[in-house]
Amino acid sequence: MCSNLCRTPAYKRQRTVLVLFDFDLTLCDEDTYSVVIQMALLAGLTLPPHLQTPPEYEGWPEYMRGILEYFHVKKITADMIKERLQECPMTKGMQELLRYLHDHQEPSKFTAEEGDKNGVAPDTKTVYETVILSDANSCFIQWILEKHNLSHAFAKVLTNPSEVTADGRIKLGEFHEQTECKISPKNMCKGRVMEEWIAQKVKRTGSGYSAVYYVGDSMNDLCPAKRLGPTDIFFVRRGFSLHKKLAANDVLCKVELWSDGRDILKTLKALRHLKGENIQQ
Ligand SMILES: [Mg+2]
Ligand SMILES: [Zn+2]
Repeated sequence: MCSNLCRTPAYKRQRTVLVLFDFDLTLCDEDTYSVVIQMALLAGLTLPPHLQTPPEYEGWPEYMRGILEYFHVKKITADMIKERLQECPMTKGMQELLRYLHDHQEPSKFTAEEGDKNGVAPDTKTVYETVILSDANSCFIQWILEKHNLSHAFAKVLTNPSEVTADGRIKLGEFHEQTECKISPKNMCKGRVMEEWIAQKVKRTGSGYSAVYYVGDSMNDLCPAKRLGPTDIFFVRRGFSLHKKLAANDVLCKVELWSDGRDILKTLKALRHLKGENIQQ
């Protein structure tokens, strides 16, 4: 007799893990705003007094709008900025990790028959949804992803909107405006954006994620991590600012350190193995 399980399409019997990546100094091995600001120095320009000190935490969109406007006046074009950003390398091992996540993305390419053939019950498959959650902006991220042929690797890029206007200016917007969260800047509470994304998924499909893995490097990744639970994982870049400042009781979720994307890949495979999945797949 066939149970209900047999009649459920394979993709509905999978565990979907949401894998959220920060961008600057996580996926990309540079801080894109620092790279752009440094272009002024490389061009031999002295920034006007009000742009000489970048903000510490709050006020980045306003500051970057000032920088981009100054660049426009000084004929540092959007194309020149794009070209410079496209020289930024991806962090070591990230290409390999993203390829793996893409090969096991939701909906899975595996059918129930294949699952059975490999001796793995189809309801134990883990699939991933890969999303960027970044306080950079859409142009900078897309340009770098394009350069590394990674535009297809993400289900969504959640970031501040930006566009190149007809007169060659880069127009930079803000993701939202919030004042509820005190540990996030006004233009982006990453924790709230993450929760909204998860809520949309529940609305869309009727079920949420079985776990959330968040990969980051700096203190602006702490807000979403604080909202994770014991089955989730916060992947913290070893030796970077977040690792140095993170206290043991800051988060409820598991914390794993990483130096290379392959460290994360190893953990993902080990988890699948623990759950009895064939990690060769
Ligand atoms: Mg970062
Ligand atoms: Zn927040």
